[in-house]
Amino acid sequence: MTAIRIDNLTCAFGELRAVDGISATIDHGELFTLLGPSGCGKTTLLRSIAGFNDVTSGSIWLGDKRIDSLPAHQRNIGMVFQNYAIFPNLNVADNVAYGLRARRVPAAEIATRVEKALQRVRLEGYGARWPHQMSGGQLQRVAIARALVIEPAVLLFDEPLSNLDAQLRTEMRVEIRRLQQSLGLTAVYVTHDQEEALAISDRIAVLRGGRIEQVGTPEDIYRQPKTPFVASFLGGTNMLSGVAGAFDGAATPVETCGVTIAVPGRIAEAGSKVLLSVRPEALRVADAGSGMRLTARLVLREFLGQIQRLHAELPDGTPLRVSTLGAAAVGVQEGASLALAYDPAQIVAFPAP
Ligand code: ATP
Repeated sequence: MTAIRIDNLTCAFGELRAVDGISATIDHGELFTLLGPSGCGKTTLLRSIAGFNDVTSGSIWLGDKRIDSLPAHQRNIGMVFQNYAIFPNLNVADNVAYGLRARRVPAAEIATRVEKALQRVRLEGYGARWPHQMSGGQLQRVAIARALVIEPAVLLFDEPLSNLDAQLRTEMRVEIRRLQQSLGLTAVYVTHDQEEALAISDRIAVLRGGRIEQVGTPEDIYRQPKTPFVASFLGGTNMLSGVAGAFDGAATPVETCGVTIAVPGRIAEAGSKVLLSVRPEALRVADAGSGMRLTARLVLREFLGQIQRLHAELPDGTPLRVSTLGAAAVGVQEGASLALAYDPAQIVAFPAP
């Protein structure tokens, strides 16, 4: 069931098309993330759904109602902002009550709904506190309660965690996800943080230059990137350029950076230029039984607890990142040669642009 439909939407600021002909559908109860680098248009798209931005052309639908020319307060959409946008001169309860007062809901009903919203974000009993008495994480929860209290059809999140420290960020994203799932909320979530997007979303749209580059589940986007941009943006892959050799019935050998990598399937005509995405975790330090191998030089080892990140160099000097578990390669000196095995199934080939 479609909750939101965006049809060929363009939002221009003068000559600049911040959103450039985007179409997408978002299902009921889905958390749909807009992911992309700074300036790709994700905030502009979110604000145009909220009604804070004029739309240049195209349409936005909530169910079967066209909303793109309605004023923001008539759209039944809640929004949680990056900077919380909490009023410092109102206590927590009055902050949460704000949208209900604006809608002239009777006072008795306001009190019950505010308390229920505060319970949902685990802030029951905090109504009389002042914003300056709350931590960053608590303020973000007040902001979520304030958006939830109007019982919106859709909740929009604009980089809601970027003002929190790293640990709180990972805790709050679990909290947001659980709340969204337990209430069956339809949510559109903006972030430039690929790990956050992978962790929290039902589906992700990767944006670039005002357009959607790919839409899919986190697994799809990560494992089957359709473009080199998507592959690079998610997971800091090794992007290697090379030349395809002749298909041998099972795999196509690719000469790249002084090594040969066998990529399953017929990926390109012999002699054509290709780009290979080789994820750091598709590589491991080879043992005697390892099949597909390549040789690199170990430059630097970073011990990160559960994993090690190895910074290596291919024969032509191209850097290669490797993520391995545990104590792999501990016996290898920095500067020495390193045999790496790779999982051909985790290598994705693209035609070179
Ligand atoms: P960030 O992660 O940095 O917030 P974003 O992906 O959300 O980036 P937008 O804020 O949507 O990107 O901006 C997209 C493009 O539109 C940028 O080039 C930006 O400079 C431009 N832009 C955004 N708002 C306006 C405006 N009000 N007037 C003119 N240009 C704007």
